Amino acid sequence: MDKTDILSLSLEELSAKILEMGEKKFRAKQIFDWLHIKKVTEFEEMTNLSAQFREELSRNFYINRLIIKKRLVSKIDNTVKYLYELSDGETIESVLMDYKHGAALCVSTQAGCRMGCKFCASTLAGKARDLLPCEMLSQMYESERDSKKILDSVVLMGIGEPLDNFDNVVKYLKILEESGFSLRRVSLSTCGVVDRIYDLAKLKLGVTLSVSLHAATDEKRSQIMPINNKFGLKELMKACDDYFAATGRRISFEYSLIEGVNDSEESAAELISLLGGKNCHVNLIPVNEVKEREFRKSPYVERFQKILLDAGLNATVRRTLGADINAACGQLRRESKKL
Ligand code: SAH
Repeated sequence: MDKTDILSLSLEELSAKILEMGEKKFRAKQIFDWLHIKKVTEFEEMTNLSAQFREELSRNFYINRLIIKKRLVSKIDNTVKYLYELSDGETIESVLMDYKHGAALCVSTQAGCRMGCKFCASTLAGKARDLLPCEMLSQMYESERDSKKILDSVVLMGIGEPLDNFDNVVKYLKILEESGFSLRRVSLSTCGVVDRIYDLAKLKLGVTLSVSLHAATDEKRSQIMPINNKFGLKELMKACDDYFAATGRRISFEYSLIEGVNDSEESAAELISLLGGKNCHVNLIPVNEVKEREFRKSPYVERFQKILLDAGLNATVRRTLGADINAACGQLRRESKKL
């Protein structure tokens, strides 16, 4: 009989399994705490359970682990980039960032990505598979164990499109919440999978929605982000308004500045006319250069920001972390697989 992946079970699901085994329900809560609060990796460590019960658990369940295949530590700012190997040999990346207010982890949601954004390294070889809830949790738990830091926040901005792996991502978030990690400390970034933004809004999970915009007209956006051919800007903005109305959470728009593509004064004016008057935040990011692509960093980041600020938009420039271990997201995985 195949063992059950215990880290991917919600407390309710775990309780049902424990009752089936003829044990008392409160045991499920004890096990859940061992897994998600104390974050043990072996059933033997669950010392308030009998040896016999621990033995039975290890016959029926397994606790997922990730293997650290590579760890790059920035000498500039302590950013750590992990290349993790999954149980089937697939690889993913997580990035641990050290901010003044605490540690943040950038978590991957898929091995690869099928969204096809032109500037992104993660999508060059397509999607291998979706990640399971346990594999998203394990990125947090392994990174904490390795770094001896406690995570303060999580951004779903690693490899993959979280809304293209909706059920597993929602399950992961629910388990995280049950473990006491407030979902207000989670940001979910999407390239704009509109139908799923509505589904997410209905769940009222309290996560911050980040939308990767990168261009403010359909013509320009479709050139760099294929998803825009399926869901245009009008539909995307409507979904964002709905998310804000349903959750009260201000949307964050990501805008990577690419030389000659979306960094002109005209592009800034287009962005102002798209977002002006909305209660939102614009995060400007100097594009990470990917060697397989010809996109270059814009020299006009400050000029672009000033135009937005002068128009009353709330715009910040994302600080570059780990510049010396750069490898834009998805590149470590690519190199490791020689894709
Ligand atoms: N699929 C999701 C989340 C993963 S990508 C999304 O699209 O939002 C995380 C962020 O990195 C997105 O804003 C994405 O557009 C951006 N990104 C991808 N490649 C980049 C690059 N080369 N330089 C700068 N930002 C990049």
